[in-house]
Amino acid sequence: MRNTAFFYIIIGILISVATVIAKPQAVDSLLQSKWLGEVALPRYTDGSERESRTPETVDLVSLFPDIVIRQWYPKTQKVALTFDDGPDDVYTPKILDVLAKYKVRATFFLIGSAANKHQEIVRRIHSEGHEIGNHTYFHSNLSRMAPWQILLDLRKARKTLSDITGEDVLVVRPPYGALDPPAVKAIGDEGYNVLLWTVDSLDWWGLSKEEVMENVIPRVESGVIVLHHSAGGPDEDLTGSVDALPEIIETLQAQGYTFLTASEILEEIRIQNEIKKEAEEASKKRARAS
Ligand SMILES: [Zn+2]
Repeated sequence: MRNTAFFYIIIGILISVATVIAKPQAVDSLLQSKWLGEVALPRYTDGSERESRTPETVDLVSLFPDIVIRQWYPKTQKVALTFDDGPDDVYTPKILDVLAKYKVRATFFLIGSAANKHQEIVRRIHSEGHEIGNHTYFHSNLSRMAPWQILLDLRKARKTLSDITGEDVLVVRPPYGALDPPAVKAIGDEGYNVLLWTVDSLDWWGLSKEEVMENVIPRVESGVIVLHHSAGGPDEDLTGSVDALPEIIETLQAQGYTFLTASEILEEIRIQNEIKKEAEEASKKRARAS
């Protein structure tokens, strides 16, 4: 009896081996069967998509077109200069001097804790007509935080900034550009807009003046949002960026560009959407009438 069972097991193994060699797709279809396949496959080795990947900015823009802005489409030559990570008392005042000289207004995405430290610079940014945006309180990676933590952080930064300038701040730029869909939803529900960027000067690499200019000037077209920094970490040198700024502005002004701030961009987009909606409704009405 035992010998017979052994014989059948051997025959079974031989048939299985022959099947794998002759018909590998038979094994594949066996693994596709519900339970066997599920047992055989590894699952989420890197954690969920949400835990391990930040969607490309373009994903977020198409997922949340009313909240996340990466560029806009004006009819004339317009561009936006934005400066992250300030304020400090080294580079931010120099950038303000350049902007004042050329009568250009920009948007400064400030870190709440740094704003607390350099309140007089925040007041200067505000009094010289620039816009202030929220770059979180501690420059945190929002894609690694729960929505309640994100809102806590943004509220703290928002209050700090409005206590200094008297003006509310509803435009957010996430540090590292890092956001995931639940974060965007929470931020949007709180009434904020997210302003990302189109052209990165990469000035935070400590580039030379020429390299910063090369990263920016050829890439500017109407509706782009340019990212610079107005402060860096302890070892970051933004001298090249500050030195490049006058020539960047002169070149763009010579090409006929005007400079908008974050809220002005949002207002242009709002008006464009309204016009589009009215045109769509009018064409629907015409279609019904005919
Ligand atoms: Zn930053």
